[in-house]
Amino acid sequence: MPHLSRIPKVDRILAHPAAAAWLQTYRRPLLLRAIRQVLDDLRDELRGGASLPALETIIARIGAELLRLDTPHLCRVVNGTGTVINTNLGRSPLPPTVARQMLETATHYSNLEFDLAAGERGERYSHVEPLVCELTGAEAAIVVNNNAAALLLALASMGRGREVIVSRGELVEIGGSFRIPEVMTQSGALLREVGTTNRTHLKDYRGAITEQTGLLLKVSCSNFAVVGFTAEVGAGELAALAREAALPLLVDCGSGLMIDLEPLLGCGEKTVQHYLQSGADVVVCSGDKLLGGPQIGIIAGKREFIAPMKKHPLLRALRVDKMTLAALEGVLRLYRDERQAREEIPTLRMLTMTEEELARRGGRMVRRLRSHLPAGLRLSLVSGFSMVGGGALPLLQLPTRLISLQSDTLSAGEIEVLLRRADTPVIGRIARGAFLLDVRTVMDDDLPLLAAALEGLE
Ligand SMILES: *Cc1c(COP(=O)(O)O)cnc(C)c1O
Repeated sequence: MPHLSRIPKVDRILAHPAAAAWLQTYRRPLLLRAIRQVLDDLRDELRGGASLPALETIIARIGAELLRLDTPHLCRVVNGTGTVINTNLGRSPLPPTVARQMLETATHYSNLEFDLAAGERGERYSHVEPLVCELTGAEAAIVVNNNAAALLLALASMGRGREVIVSRGELVEIGGSFRIPEVMTQSGALLREVGTTNRTHLKDYRGAITEQTGLLLKVSCSNFAVVGFTAEVGAGELAALAREAALPLLVDCGSGLMIDLEPLLGCGEKTVQHYLQSGADVVVCSGDKLLGGPQIGIIAGKREFIAPMKKHPLLRALRVDKMTLAALEGVLRLYRDERQAREEIPTLRMLTMTEEELARRGGRMVRRLRSHLPAGLRLSLVSGFSMVGGGALPLLQLPTRLISLQSDTLSAGEIEVLLRRADTPVIGRIARGAFLLDVRTVMDDDLPLLAAALEGLE
């Protein structure tokens, strides 16, 4: 029979000198919560056959619980994975100047839905629509929660109860529960697949057009590649067919790329402008992939299709908040000067770093980190590859430099766990028995935090 009655009471803990010290830092309700949590855990442990620890051990556990309760659960991490658009780690970090604008909007009142010139009710989307149009050449635009929402709204508005023709090779799953056929079902549009997994021709689309057809859909296959015997119909050809049949063409371009990265990366990802210039009536894309902005879905295109979406009942359920709008506006403004966008938007900055730059950065980081290193830990700079991530350019491997960490006493797996659980968690990868941190995705101001995490590896 466990001696549950021997577990100290809350009052006894509160009378302990540690409690007075805690109350200098923490609010009383938080302390009570921590005490009750630890005492509850102890009760469970005793019932499970464990013996009662010493009072000082209990006090230490309460201290640790307090610290845990007082630390935000959603927290900054150091991305050493080399995957630039890392969905698990929050996709695109925002430029600090944009974050400041966002904070101002978050902590004060704003003209979110107030027209300052006219002194009357304004439109939430008016802050970003002109910018999207200016940058992409679209007539009209609207923004929603993310690209999945953008596609849902566009399909519901343009294709409800009608058939939507899409290539079998483009019925993709993006991750988790986002699958094109399922989004289509939810929108009330009817899927009409054409072609085969690897090859779809213009005649396949043409042959499927009937009285029931509502629109043609093209999805950019951003997170995988079909290689070998393949054929897909480009946006230009598809747009010509759509015009001939008096149907709209909707393109889901995924990444939201707005500047041509081909000369820099030698890659073939198409821009939003490319699809609109090719004749797409509406293009939808993400805000936090290659655009490098906040989580958002952009819908851009012809006014006749965007205007009904602004009145669609789904819009209210998918709408974005003021902080996101402030962030998007800030990021889009940087795109007015392509060079400024490349320099200030972290996602673009990281993607376009040259190998020489990465080697120099890596050298600097290693020198800096070595001065804090506990004994038995060794650092070296090795060559490797980074990934774009975010379901963009899956085949592109960007040459990079990796900081390789090896220890006399810890295995790569143990280093991985310890750094992942550091005060500022550091996330890397393990390859060939070494723990690796990619220089490309470690940000400049991460360095002191990384140094502190390494110091803790003793
Ligand atoms: C990423 C992606 C989506 C989903 O975008 P979210 O912004 O994550 O909702 C949809 N379609 C394509 C082609 C994508 O690449």
